[in-house]
Amino acid sequence: MNSGDLLLTDNPDWDSGTAELGHMFKPGELDLSHKVVLYLDEITVSFDGFRALNKLSLTIDAGELRCIIGPNGAGKTTMMDVITGKTRPDEGKAFFGQTLDLTRLSEPEIAHLGIGRKFQKPTIFENHTVFENLELAMKTDKRVWRSLLALLDSAAGDRIAETLQTIRLTAHADRLAGLLSHGQKQWLEIGMLLMQEPRLLLLDEPVAGMTDEETERTGELFLTLAGKHSLVVVEHDMAFVKQLGGKVTVLHEGSVLAEGALEDVQADARVIEVYLGR
Ligand code: ADP
Ligand code: MG
Repeated sequence: MNSGDLLLTDNPDWDSGTAELGHMFKPGELDLSHKVVLYLDEITVSFDGFRALNKLSLTIDAGELRCIIGPNGAGKTTMMDVITGKTRPDEGKAFFGQTLDLTRLSEPEIAHLGIGRKFQKPTIFENHTVFENLELAMKTDKRVWRSLLALLDSAAGDRIAETLQTIRLTAHADRLAGLLSHGQKQWLEIGMLLMQEPRLLLLDEPVAGMTDEETERTGELFLTLAGKHSLVVVEHDMAFVKQLGGKVTVLHEGSVLAEGALEDVQADARVIEVYLGR
């Protein structure tokens, strides 16, 4: 183990309570000792013989903020379906941390282990206030005992207050969620995901339909979440991808076409051909 590994496992943000044990993880616990939160290896998914994913390999580091781009039909959503257990790959490996085999876990098990997914349409409770939505997101936590303790504890209120600040909806805490703007609803749903304390967040086109100002604020939000969480963001908005500034993966026909800094992949002749050749 090098000193970097030690730092990572000793950090309470990365590990739930085994700091003094170093690499000894309980079964079912996320092992980030190699600093990799997600590892996909040659994943293939076929629909009636058509390969939506074709030997897709991808590694996301713990705390990383990764953008995935690529033309429609490239397999971006299918990739998220595989990670969350909605779709089973025909071939390939998918690991959450070092030890958790996503291809053997159910959708609820994967969510419970700490992979949160945000779909394009917000699924908030419109007839409840912003505060209540965050409270409900915490109550739906499957870890019953932990939830009960959390509710008895005033820390629950603190966590909601903290999340309201993160998503910048403190001033709207008592408003009905249905009265929020489109962008604010998206932030609320991200806040609801955060109440479940996810380690990896998957966000599919999070700024679609947002104003430029909302898009920029969403970028700021994601940048504050990175490090503490790992984020995989599928997005078409290149100004937004540029703002996020991290590594970019280009998917095409179910495989990785290019990967690197945005300016490098944008200058890649194969990437240009895929986008302009449509
Ligand atoms: P993206 O999100 O990059 O636009 P998708 O992952 O949604 O791409 O789709 C990849 C390809 O797989 C597309 O050609 C799509 O039509 C096909 N596909 C996705 N889901 C299914 C499905 N359930 N049945 C059949 N074909 C599908
Ligand atoms: Mg899609």
